[in-house]
Amino acid sequence: MHLVMIGGSDAGISAALRARELEPAADVTVIVADAYPNFSICGIPYYVSGDVAHWRNLAHRTTADLEATGMRLRLDTSATRIDVAGRKLQVTGSDGRDEMIAYDKLIVGTGAVPVRPPITGLSGPDALGPGDGVHLLHTMGDTFAVMRTLQTTSPASAVIVGAGYVGLEMAEALTARGVQVTQIEQLPEVLATVDPELGGLVHAELAAHDIQILTSATVQQISRADPGASGRLRVIARGNTGEAIERHADMVLVVTGVQPDTELAAAAGARLGIRGAIQVDPGMQTGLPDVLAAGDCVITHHRLLGETYLPLGTTAHKQGRVAGENALGRNRQFAGSLGTQVVKIFDQAAARTGLRHDEAAAAGFDPITVQSEADDHKAYYPGSHRITMRVTGDRRTGRLLGMQLFGHKHAEIAKRIDIAATAIFNNMTVEDMSDLDLSYTPPLGSPWEAVQMGAQAWDREVRNLSM
Ligand SMILES: Cc1cc2nc3c(=O)[nH]c(=O)nc-3n(C[C@H](O)[C@H](O)[C@H](O)COP(=O)(O)OP(=O)(O)OC[C@H]3O[C@@H](n4cnc5c(N)ncnc54)[C@H](O)[C@@H]3O)c2cc1C
Repeated sequence: MHLVMIGGSDAGISAALRARELEPAADVTVIVADAYPNFSICGIPYYVSGDVAHWRNLAHRTTADLEATGMRLRLDTSATRIDVAGRKLQVTGSDGRDEMIAYDKLIVGTGAVPVRPPITGLSGPDALGPGDGVHLLHTMGDTFAVMRTLQTTSPASAVIVGAGYVGLEMAEALTARGVQVTQIEQLPEVLATVDPELGGLVHAELAAHDIQILTSATVQQISRADPGASGRLRVIARGNTGEAIERHADMVLVVTGVQPDTELAAAAGARLGIRGAIQVDPGMQTGLPDVLAAGDCVITHHRLLGETYLPLGTTAHKQGRVAGENALGRNRQFAGSLGTQVVKIFDQAAARTGLRHDEAAAAGFDPITVQSEADDHKAYYPGSHRITMRVTGDRRTGRLLGMQLFGHKHAEIAKRIDIAATAIFNNMTVEDMSDLDLSYTPPLGSPWEAVQMGAQAWDREVRNLSM
């Protein structure tokens, strides 16, 4: 049994590890386009900031660790064609030579590539010339390019295009390196993965750390600045009322999301679904004989929405594990995502799980969202922090649909959102969440856990509305 995985990141490596764990006799080969298998690209902002001292520390496992599990790694090797009928994969090595590799089962984990918004001056890695200081950010190669710009040109200022979670993490990272950051976002508020009410709190945290934020502004052009300008690059954006906005900076980072990398699978005949991602069933089967796929290159099965596209590292790990298991002929199913995520913004954290208010309404629920606050632990014990919560539940059924949290980075925001994620995963009502038996001691919590107080605030509001 020869299993071949394409991609050496979360999905491909998870699949390979699971297959080797379940079937120590399985012959497993992982084809990796670059030389960085199993690197945590989620950690890139923390290497750029200096919190992680060396890029090698971003490896979840070293190459030697991976090989010790019995998998074979083919680094700097690109998969270039899938011969589905012949069960062969064409690969091209770093020496440019093509080779056909026979497989019994193939798992495509080619991931995603950064979206390139239609900005004049943003095509090719050095669109304005070598070392132009304009960057996308997804791979270790992109990271080295950013670090080269930082080390060789010591930029005083940067424009970050996009204020999603990667944009926010990079704003913090560049600020830590003494770079003055301007963040330009085309939506009306930063961090659109939470409701604007919490996005506004994130905005205030960025502003408190000297980030200049322009929202409702779409970047249209990046060009070299005239000599004598305050930065090497000139960025032109348009506001939503049509006004032209001009900024100068020494460096520009474009982080406006990702799109699935599906060229190889599509050329082999794989069906594409939402956002052009590979269509897979919950067993990660593509429908092509003996070809499975997982991670950012596939559609996401969502427990409340059905099919969507929600590329996240946590999801890629789970889907990869399912694919690795099923490639051995077993019958696992990916249980579905809730889009649970958290991001640290300087001293604060924002998290969400399930649906935001508008998403719930668009999905046909009758949502009510109630915002409230509670302390992370008893206020009489030193160091307590207020947490802002938004609970979304269905008015008719009381079902918990979503939760969003914002609070201090030491207020256990990540683990608190996981309480709500667990409740939604198990189809619980808002009231059920309030009934959960959760832990308490004054330095760490309250008799009513904060998210349960959020649930009770929701219940009060719904009862008021029905009176
Ligand atoms: C800066 C940053 C921060 C992030 N932070 C978080 C976070 O905090 N939490 C979270 O859940 N998610 C986070 N993510 C998202 C997460 O990293 C991705 O969801 C995850 O990496 C997806 O894994 P993947 O294996 O599907 O694809 P990718 O990581 O995109 O990897 C694809 C792999 O396939 C290889 N490949 C592609 N084409 C070929 C080919 N033809 N032949 C051979 N190999 C090929 C690539 O070299 C790579 O090894 C972050 C992403 C970034 C960029």
